[in-house]
Amino acid sequence: MSITRQGDQAAEAEERATDFDAVIVGAGFSGLYMLHSLRNELGFSARVYEAGTDVGGTWYWNRYPGAKSDSDSYIYCYSFDKQLRQEWEWSERYPGHEEIRGYLEHVADRFDLRRDIRFSTQVVDATFDEDAKHWTIRTNKGDTVSARFFIAAVGSLSALNKPAFPGRDTFEGDSHHTAHWPHEGVDFTGKRVGIIGTGATAIQAIPLIAERADHLTVFQRTANYGIPARNGPVDPEVTKARKAEYDAIWDRLRQSYFGFEHYFIERSALDDSPEERERELQSRWDGGGFGLWLANYQDMFFDKEANDAISEWVRERIQERVDDPETAEKLTPRDHPFGTKRVPLESNYYEAFNRNNVELVDVRETPIEEITPTGLRTEDAEYEFDVLVYATGFDAMTGPLNKINIRGRGGQLLRDKWAEGPRSYLGLTVADFPNMFTITGPGSPSVLSNMPVSIEQHVEFISRIISDMRERGVEVIEPTQKSEDEWTAHSQEVAHSTLLPQSATWYMGANIPGKPRVFMPYLGGVGPYRQKCDEIAANDYEGFAFASRKGANA
Ligand SMILES: Cc1cc2nc3c(=O)[nH]c(=O)nc-3n(C[C@H](O)[C@H](O)[C@H](O)COP(=O)(O)OP(=O)(O)OC[C@H]3O[C@@H](n4cnc5c(N)ncnc54)[C@H](O)[C@@H]3O)c2cc1C
Repeated sequence: MSITRQGDQAAEAEERATDFDAVIVGAGFSGLYMLHSLRNELGFSARVYEAGTDVGGTWYWNRYPGAKSDSDSYIYCYSFDKQLRQEWEWSERYPGHEEIRGYLEHVADRFDLRRDIRFSTQVVDATFDEDAKHWTIRTNKGDTVSARFFIAAVGSLSALNKPAFPGRDTFEGDSHHTAHWPHEGVDFTGKRVGIIGTGATAIQAIPLIAERADHLTVFQRTANYGIPARNGPVDPEVTKARKAEYDAIWDRLRQSYFGFEHYFIERSALDDSPEERERELQSRWDGGGFGLWLANYQDMFFDKEANDAISEWVRERIQERVDDPETAEKLTPRDHPFGTKRVPLESNYYEAFNRNNVELVDVRETPIEEITPTGLRTEDAEYEFDVLVYATGFDAMTGPLNKINIRGRGGQLLRDKWAEGPRSYLGLTVADFPNMFTITGPGSPSVLSNMPVSIEQHVEFISRIISDMRERGVEVIEPTQKSEDEWTAHSQEVAHSTLLPQSATWYMGANIPGKPRVFMPYLGGVGPYRQKCDEIAANDYEGFAFASRKGANA
């Protein structure tokens, strides 16, 4: 038999396979590394299902103008392969969506991942079979497969939120959500454009749409504290030096609080005189990036008075950039402390409102009443558009998991279990949902970290568990109810020791009507969280119960 023929047969057998060690949902940063780790490094069989037509996850879907990472490119990537780290060259301080997609496509090719990914396929059901001790997974294409492990790499920000305004589907012009952007792009030239939302996405898109559109109307519900990105090329000498010390950099990221090279100023904002404080804040403002958010005074997240001093300083910086005092005031956040919502990075965002083709409408003053065939109507005016852009974010964290009918023991649905808010052990496993893992799930550092660092930690921890189970001849792992209760309580206690839960944010589910108000990401820090996971593994997987074929042995 020829080698080609053998290869064809192997490929056909793979195509027909219906039973795997693991089924992974999602082919973004998480799913790709999970597949590589389980299949290439540990020799398990795995299949990935991905709704998109290619890899990339967030960066496959979010192609709106200005879509970029807010993490610096040298840390917005994988660290697991030293050669990959050395070879890949980013063109700018913050990589754009095309470049990140290119990077993830390169990773998929380099590690031969595509052959085990089924694209354009959505997982709709996943059910744990208690007798067979495996998961049965069903897709929208009608495939049914089984797997010992069900791994959700569905992303924290992949279920888009499109508010149900009355008449939403009556608009006759072009209408796009930023997280489902057409691959061919949108030509705004000479068009009347409306954009709903002023979060991190809109703040990236607005300056660029404003340059093209004939007229742009921005509908703002919440003014945000945008801080300068200061994008640009990175000095090749800096890149060379970073590559030379990558191991040390990644060690620091793994031990850090947020997965960034940012460290708190170890004193109170109120210990400094106004002049000293001004110097500290100005240097972070000038440096651009998340420094002003994540490397600020240590009490910024805890002490309202300390935070007030910082918030006021940022408000002044915003106001001085906007010419019209009324618009400046509308753009100035006064309803939440700085840093308690996701802080957007911006490039010329505030200056966009100095253009005479840009108009700001505060929908708290005049709410949107309905979408009409020609545009939208607020309480006091009617607007006409050629293009309407929804920059209205996501049903974050629980949304992508709750969209799947995930059934654990006794047929219980995960979304029912989570009706009052998500509960988990480590944001990674859920009691009564054996052999299921949620990468960057609610209850883990996830969206309050530089995510590739958190993703790698979760993938490596899951691989370690699965590999240890193989060695021990164990078939089933799940957290005890007690460990889930304790972790959930601990996660809430940590969050509520800060100012963050006081703000109406998507971290709290506040952007989705009816969603329980529970702080979802874990705020205990990336480094301490990693240490906790390592201790749990070293301590014979404390908090988990195992079962082998013969029965349970907790
Ligand atoms: C605009 C934007 C900017 C961001 N900027 C940053 C940043 O600066 N720094 C940072 O750390 N993070 C940032 N993030 C967060 C970003 O999501 C993560 O960094 C990272 O890309 C997450 O990777 P992931 O693989 O976990 O999830 P995703 O990239 O979201 O991939 C999940 C994939 O799962 C697929 N999927 C979901 N459900 C199903 C299903 N039922 N069936 C089949 N497929 C399914 C989706 O189609 C998606 O492709 C940003 C997010 C957005 C939206």
